[in-house]
Amino acid sequence: MKDFSAPLLMPDLLDSGQLMGLMNMFRSAHSVVVTAHHGPDGDALGSTLALATYLRSLGKRVSVCLPSMFPDFLRWMPGCRDVLIYRDSPSKVRSLLAQADLVCCLDFCELSRLNAMQEAVERCRAPRLMIDHHEGPDEGAFAFQISRPSMSSTCELVFRLLYQLGAYEGMSRSTAALLMTGIMTDTGNFAYSCDDPVLYLCASLLMRKGVDKESIYKKVYRSWSQGKFTLWADVLSQSLTFHAGGHASVFTLTREMMKSHKFVRGDAEGLVSEPLKIRGMRLCVSLREDTEEDVVRVSLRSTDGFHCREMAERFFDGGGHDDAAGGQLPFPIESAREVVLRAIEAYALELGGE
Ligand code: 5GP
Ligand code: MN
Repeated sequence: MKDFSAPLLMPDLLDSGQLMGLMNMFRSAHSVVVTAHHGPDGDALGSTLALATYLRSLGKRVSVCLPSMFPDFLRWMPGCRDVLIYRDSPSKVRSLLAQADLVCCLDFCELSRLNAMQEAVERCRAPRLMIDHHEGPDEGAFAFQISRPSMSSTCELVFRLLYQLGAYEGMSRSTAALLMTGIMTDTGNFAYSCDDPVLYLCASLLMRKGVDKESIYKKVYRSWSQGKFTLWADVLSQSLTFHAGGHASVFTLTREMMKSHKFVRGDAEGLVSEPLKIRGMRLCVSLREDTEEDVVRVSLRSTDGFHCREMAERFFDGGGHDDAAGGQLPFPIESAREVVLRAIEAYALELGGE
């Protein structure tokens, strides 16, 4: 029986040994690079900017360097203008990495998720600190790792870390807004991966900093361009197909479709999970032609006990969470679609089962 009579207190994230280790790591670092996975989302951007702000308050020289650009709908996030994008400024990022004596890796745990920036990070001799909520960290890639797959988001993790480090008192409203944004985007606005009561304690403490949650919601979810709206309508009416007795769905998004709807980065975010609104739907797959590389990005979402991560690992050279995973296929989109249909066929029994 759970004890509901005691007040809910913020549990420590780290034990005292880990806390000492982390503080030593911070103490001995002067130049820090903070990074996250390619195709950064609200959680990746929010957590890196929030940790960077904290490290700057300790007097560190901090640069946020991301492998690729974040979506347009996050352009309002405080501090995002100073972010360096490896794809746009590779030599600048390489030189910052060469000078760094600590690299903080947030919201990913496999170096391959840095894409083109992976080699530059691997070549850098500074120790790597990983703070992440994905399953399966790379063995030996990090000098220090804080891996919490049970947590909603890296932003929750960073909040709890800063809280334990005594940084809550001095936390600004804009840092609180950064962390709230990542929690909101990674939980679908508190819809999934958010059953832990401690998350609501974090959210409550963030709200006490004066976060305008409604305004974040509007900026993230209600600032669509007409093109984005018509793109979604087009995909769902023209491209979506159903499989495995209606328990799975697939759609493709081509460069041509993106062009005709004036696609900007981020316009397809969330589209993959739309068919989960259909009763009985357990797996949704989207295939999107990458706008910069010659690969097809595969996104998977699942529910009701079907774990799409395994499929992503087995068929799409990817990974992620049990219910939200991704990968890529180095084929033209029609051949990539064939691979997806074969993958669904391989799981047809499991998908059809109750
Ligand atoms: P999305 O579909 O939003 O791109 O990704 C969904 C989830 O899968 C995210 O949590 C992301 O971290 C993970 N993911 C996406 N692509 C890859 C990939 O290529 N490899 C791995 N390991 N995880 C991925
Ligand atoms: Mn995340």
